[in-house]
Amino acid sequence: MILTKSQKIYRKNRKKIRGYQKKYYETHKKLHADKDLKWKRDNPDKYKEYQHKYRRSDAGKLNIKISNHRRRALRIATSDGSVTKQAINGMYVGQDYKCNLCGDSIKDNYHIDHIYPLSKGGSHTIKNIQLLCPHCNLTKSNGLP
Ligand SMILES: [Zn+2]
Repeated sequence: MILTKSQKIYRKNRKKIRGYQKKYYETHKKLHADKDLKWKRDNPDKYKEYQHKYRRSDAGKLNIKISNHRRRALRIATSDGSVTKQAINGMYVGQDYKCNLCGDSIKDNYHIDHIYPLSKGGSHTIKNIQLLCPHCNLTKSNGLP
């Protein structure tokens, strides 16, 4: 196989070039993410509409399916079998039917929360679980405690 001069240079510096490309990608990814965030903040209505449309599109549906699957897989992979109905019930009584963060009553409704999110290396074990009111669970999102 005959290589052109630029191909030869590329081959010689493949590692270096890949490194640049990676760096370029990383910095620009962050740039785009910042821009996205700003746009979302400035256009909450448009963003909502966009999200709504996206979720109903084929790509959106597929992405939701994939992330649900990933979440389920993480739950199974990191579980030690300690999260049972009885264990959750015991916790519910142990927390005095109160949200573990704000102390509001969770008698009407509670969310099972992973203290360290599964997506950040937390495990699906009773030690990593707390019961929260819906409000605290939704505002906590993926933040660490
Ligand atoms: Zn709460």
